[in-house]
Amino acid sequence: MPLNLFIIGPSGCGKSTQAKLIAEKYNLTHFSTGQILRDEISAASELGLKAKSFIDTGNLVPDEIVFDILITNLAKINNQDFILDGFPRMLSQGQFIENYLTSQNQPLDQIIHLDVSFEEIQARRAARGVEFQDQNRTDSTPKAIAARQKFYDDNNGLIMDYFQAKDLLFRVNGNRPIEPIFEDIEKKVNSLPKN
Ligand code: AMP
Repeated sequence: MPLNLFIIGPSGCGKSTQAKLIAEKYNLTHFSTGQILRDEISAASELGLKAKSFIDTGNLVPDEIVFDILITNLAKINNQDFILDGFPRMLSQGQFIENYLTSQNQPLDQIIHLDVSFEEIQARRAARGVEFQDQNRTDSTPKAIAARQKFYDDNNGLIMDYFQAKDLLFRVNGNRPIEPIFEDIEKKVNSLPKN
């Protein structure tokens, strides 16, 4: 049965690492809205140019741009068997994708939320050191990081409440090493009715 998963959490929580592991294990296409946007910027596309100033300042890229690239990418894989990393970041995005997937007869399977405290993220950043910051990213400045955290703090509760009420949310303690986090996610995914 086709499977669609979403992984969200604060910036720097390790969601891309988990998304890659999940994609490999369940044979899913891994999409990251942040990475797709960075690729659009590298390609100097019209969408990329529109998105760049939002990304560089740690702000959310407007929905119409994100929805456009998302639907284009999902359509390429018939809207099935994917894990989407970094989406939804606002309740409007969650409702949009839920409705879209339902309209494609691929109802949303699960949103995985990595619970990681801001203190833990700061400690990981300090341990990695500034020189290790992702070469490919122009938004690793303290100001952009703080802006991303604020968007997360402002929006995350609403997203979690909405999907929790529909029993579509799995929260996992992300203040741990990669392996035990992944094991918990695996158990959850294996227990989904489709698997
Ligand atoms: P990320 O790689 O997930 O940390 O995303 C990097 C940046 O891309 C974010 O700070 C936003 O500017 C933009 N972005 C990524 N995903 C979304 C989204 N779902 N909605 C709006 N903007 C996004």
